[in-house]
Amino acid sequence: MWSEIFERFLQHFGWDLVRYFLFAGIPYTIFYVLLKSQLFRFKIQQKFPEFYHMRREILFSLSSMLIFTFVGTSVFIFQKNGYTQIYTDIHQHSIAYLIFSVFAFIFIHDAYFYWSHRFMHHKKVYPYVHLIHHKSTNPTPWAAFAFHPLEAVGQVLILPIMVFAMPLHPLAIFIWGIYQLALNIGGHLGFEIFRKGFTTRFYSKWHNTSTHHNMHHKYVNCNYGLYFNIWDRMMGTNHKNYHEEFDAICDRRVKVLEPEQA
Ligand SMILES: [Zn+2]
Ligand SMILES: [Zn+2]
Repeated sequence: MWSEIFERFLQHFGWDLVRYFLFAGIPYTIFYVLLKSQLFRFKIQQKFPEFYHMRREILFSLSSMLIFTFVGTSVFIFQKNGYTQIYTDIHQHSIAYLIFSVFAFIFIHDAYFYWSHRFMHHKKVYPYVHLIHHKSTNPTPWAAFAFHPLEAVGQVLILPIMVFAMPLHPLAIFIWGIYQLALNIGGHLGFEIFRKGFTTRFYSKWHNTSTHHNMHHKYVNCNYGLYFNIWDRMMGTNHKNYHEEFDAICDRRVKVLEPEQA
């Protein structure tokens, strides 16, 4: 049993490392190395962070992944002993349920993130825990999991909560895992790739942008949401100039394209 748990731990940690270095490393290589000057007009803050910031982002992300692996392995042990609602036979529930469970997981996580993030900004918590993440005022993809260990525990708790709360197939957990990783990296990309008007058009305004989270790192007490711009809208916590800044960033990239205005 213990050797199986240890093997599972190593597999989990290895998988987390591969995912992190692929999902953060590929955009980093493209945006910060290979096409650095060509894509500079897409840069949200018109400057690049110092190397030591990225070193800190990577080291804290590695420590977070160790914690994620501990929790993930604990979930595996609970599952082995029949305590979770994870089901491995995909036909135990319908395909419609499988799809529903992915969306439910994402929306519940979005609410969980928003409120736990608000808690992290409480003046009695922020300087001791969440400040680590905010040391990146101009974040790079490496910052996606740069958390204080206590925050990493708080973040990953959504997984045990969900597997105890509702039936989930490993495929649903996998899809959610990829989605949250991609969106987390996207939020810390430091470059805006969406088109002007994205934050105000009726079909796209409900989704967050890289600018949204970048402004959270720059201004701190605003833009707390993760995937969707629902809770920030409802609670009035979007930065008051979010839409203007977003459109200005998009305008800047177009201006650079036109040589007479450059
Ligand atoms: Zn924050
Ligand atoms: Zn962040």
